[in-house]
Amino acid sequence: MTKQLRYLPTGQGNGEMEPGVTWRGHVARGMLLCPAPDCGLTFGRVVAGGARRHHFAHRPGEGEHDAVTGPETLWHLSAKNVLGRWAASHPGLAGWTLHLDDTPITLPDGWRRPDVLAISPDGVKVAFEVQYSALTGTDWQARHDFYAKAGVVDIWLFAHHGPQWRPATTRQLRRSELVSRDPDWAATVQLSGLHQTMLRHGVIPLWLDPTTQTIGTATTRVHPANTSPGERLWEDSAYTLPPHRTFPACHIAADPLEQCDVDLEAGELLTPARCLHHKERDRLQAEEQVAQERAVQVRAQLRAQQEERTRCRRAAEQEKRRAIAAQAAQEQAEREKREQEELRRKEEERAAAEVRQKMPLAQQFPPMFEQEPPSSPKPPWWKPWQRRA
Ligand SMILES: [Zn+2]
Repeated sequence: MTKQLRYLPTGQGNGEMEPGVTWRGHVARGMLLCPAPDCGLTFGRVVAGGARRHHFAHRPGEGEHDAVTGPETLWHLSAKNVLGRWAASHPGLAGWTLHLDDTPITLPDGWRRPDVLAISPDGVKVAFEVQYSALTGTDWQARHDFYAKAGVVDIWLFAHHGPQWRPATTRQLRRSELVSRDPDWAATVQLSGLHQTMLRHGVIPLWLDPTTQTIGTATTRVHPANTSPGERLWEDSAYTLPPHRTFPACHIAADPLEQCDVDLEAGELLTPARCLHHKERDRLQAEEQVAQERAVQVRAQLRAQQEERTRCRRAAEQEKRRAIAAQAAQEQAEREKREQEELRRKEEERAAAEVRQKMPLAQQFPPMFEQEPPSSPKPPWWKPWQRRA
């Protein structure tokens, strides 16, 4: 009756709303109105037990609005309220003023009314948009650009059912090849053209489940260096990162809404999964830097080896040239020595010839025949005794 939305915590249908007041008693006294627009009826009962979540329900025959409008209207309302309550109690947004669906952002060429608008004491505006219906990438971009032009940080949250939540098929998961098979991530969704447009703009798709007050972050486990199909990409070496904009599907990392924060600098809702993305990105960059440095070192080593080889080759060539020169010099010296000897010989011959020319002719030439030395007189033939002797 106070027009304040009351949240029935999971499994608390039989519990107490506040000390001494049970939910059932509160409903029985007709204190809880249905929040559906144009309904205005009080709830008749609390449904607790069975497979479905504990919830309030109309009396049979009353409040058939879900059949007319579909559940989206209530989901949307619920999501806005959950967001508003989170923003009101979040320490990071203490002192901010909150507007639920009632304050438009206006520009000369149009206006938009965010589902939840938070304004800081110094005028910083954060708009939360909860998107339940279908939206094209072009339309999203126009709205995103509008908020950027107006200087408003826009945070988009998609429904956890309906057109924004299409479970991925096995074929898509296999096609993407980069989606982890991590059993911790039970939910896998298709990435629509809208989600891919957001990823192109560096905006990571988020989903909001208002019943469990959970934020889902688009996440994959990828091995950036190894993107060829058929590779095992969910190994330990993989990184937990946002999906690439071409992926057909991704996993959803679920985090409690209360653990999320608004990152004004990045203009996004900082979920624990996003923190992990940042950490992993830093790790990846550090590893890439190490790899680059190693590559530079290897290149330098190779260059040094190459230079060493060139130096050795040059030294060997120089040595060879020196040896050849030395041999040539030696040969030259020998040749000169021979020539000098030849010269000296010729000189001597010439000198000898001169000497000979100055000699008397008889001495110039050696006698033709050696003159026999004068022999002892032979005994005449008639004195043979002398011969015998
Ligand atoms: Zn109703």
